[in-house]
Amino acid sequence: MIYRTHHCNALRTGDAGTTVTLSGWIASRRDHGGVIFIDLRDREGLTQVVFRPEENPEAAARSHELRGEDVVRVTGRVALRLAGTENPKLATGGIEIVATGLEILNASDVLPFPMDERIANEDLRLTYRYLDLRRAEMSANLRLRHRVIKTIRDAMDAEGFLEIETPILSKSTPEGARDFLVPSRLTPGSFYALPQAPQQYKQLLMVAGVEKYFQIARCFRDEDLRADRQPEFTQLDVEASFVTQDDIIGLMERVLAAVFRAASGAEIPCPFPRLTWREAMDRFGSDKPDTRFAMEISDLGDIFRDSAFKVFRGALDSGGVVKAINAKGFAKITTGQIESLTELAKQAGAKGLAFIKIENGEWKSPIVKFFSDAEKAALTARLGIEEGDLVLFGADRWETACETLGRVRLRVASILGLADDPSKNNFLWVVDFPLLAWSDEEQKWNAVHHPFTRPCDEDAPLVESGDYGKIRAVAYDVVLNGVEIGGGSLRIHEPALQAKMFSALGVDDEMQRTMFGHMLKAFQFGAPPHGGIALGLDRLVMLIARAESIRDVIAFPKNNRGVELMTGSPSEVDFRQLRELEIQSAKKPA
Ligand code: ASP
Repeated sequence: MIYRTHHCNALRTGDAGTTVTLSGWIASRRDHGGVIFIDLRDREGLTQVVFRPEENPEAAARSHELRGEDVVRVTGRVALRLAGTENPKLATGGIEIVATGLEILNASDVLPFPMDERIANEDLRLTYRYLDLRRAEMSANLRLRHRVIKTIRDAMDAEGFLEIETPILSKSTPEGARDFLVPSRLTPGSFYALPQAPQQYKQLLMVAGVEKYFQIARCFRDEDLRADRQPEFTQLDVEASFVTQDDIIGLMERVLAAVFRAASGAEIPCPFPRLTWREAMDRFGSDKPDTRFAMEISDLGDIFRDSAFKVFRGALDSGGVVKAINAKGFAKITTGQIESLTELAKQAGAKGLAFIKIENGEWKSPIVKFFSDAEKAALTARLGIEEGDLVLFGADRWETACETLGRVRLRVASILGLADDPSKNNFLWVVDFPLLAWSDEEQKWNAVHHPFTRPCDEDAPLVESGDYGKIRAVAYDVVLNGVEIGGGSLRIHEPALQAKMFSALGVDDEMQRTMFGHMLKAFQFGAPPHGGIALGLDRLVMLIARAESIRDVIAFPKNNRGVELMTGSPSEVDFRQLRELEIQSAKKPA
């Protein structure tokens, strides 16, 4: 017995007359005056099968019982479809199989949802994920993901990198997010932590002389699930020794170019443009600028330095900025849209959102009466103002004004559909991030990237002087169409500098010994200069697939409550398991 001579996307008109066997699922069944037609589906595609009573009365009779998703084996003769009934949309659309044999290998129950369309209820899709994954869209996503990972492995191998697995049961270190903990049975009261990233292990591999490491690494972060995050996700994790920032950037550009070529046939132009963090914030109001459209933020400080308009003048006098974007052709904005943009600006910390509509040759706005003719002329020139435009202002502290106009810019672009061209792959690097950021809430300095990131050489004296806010890091993010797809940094490899950095972050000597002693010690035994990066693989595949969510490119994702609905995890465990672990639940019975 054989299950198949061909898959369901193989047969063409040239095969007419041959006898074949196919196996797969019933994708659809149609009754044409007592003659049954089915579309038989397997991983590769669809083939039409017709059951004619004159060929095999018994098979034809049984074909009436077939239901969607039954698994069958069909034997038959390849025949040309009748003229006019060919289906040019289907690769096998010129032929059909005239069945001479039918075996039902396994019947399917009534389905929980129709298989030929994407249903809106995602929880239902996730509960029956094995059915959802049979759909062409989802199976294409799984294949794409495979292609991306395979290309990465080949490209990294060709670059001389070794794939090395690091522990999943590892040590808890405060690196930003909350850890997932795993209790140790052999050392009761002790816990492993699932890695948030293999950061420390990969750096220790550099001390070990590996020089070029990568891993398709599963990472775990127990965060409150914001839209489109998963508690476990996959990174391409990379670390290399004796490298500069340019080396890492060049490597990743080559790998990404290979991935896009293999996965979508797109040639992406290299090298990618680079922006400093400050420039990205200044021009786009974001550390992950979307450059698929212009609408850049302009600085107007020089124009309004002596303005009669108090709001602008006041912002400048107190050390802030006045900035604006020109939403070209958007003077027809509705009141509702203006209100929602103002709300957005307030969420970003602005007090409001000043704007001017240019309609019928007139500047419409309550603030215009405060502008001098010279200010108007300078504004027109700076922003290229024309009839039909809408100018939106930010007058605030630099960060707030940038952030506000950055968000407004994205919202306007989305309303106007400025980023809708699906052929655009706008990559760029953001470099020169700040090393540390002050947290008002915690009243301490935090690492913007992580505590192992290296300060720029020129800024190293500021570590000594304690001028932490001004230190730039040798850290870089790679951005695609306004989405951060990865980031990394050169690392500190000198034990004294690393200890100083921990102190700046408020990690006292005792904590340094218990939490990071292994790093500080390793750095004393000849740690080479090193650096690396991690790319978010789920997000990358999602962007290539143009999927709506990372859940669409993960075989068995959790929903946005962190639940994997198909198997029902997380779940309660037997009290004996807890007893073995010497753990007691403090949860009160409901
Ligand atoms: N471990 C970092 C992260 O997961 C990336 C890196 O610095 O290589 O964000």
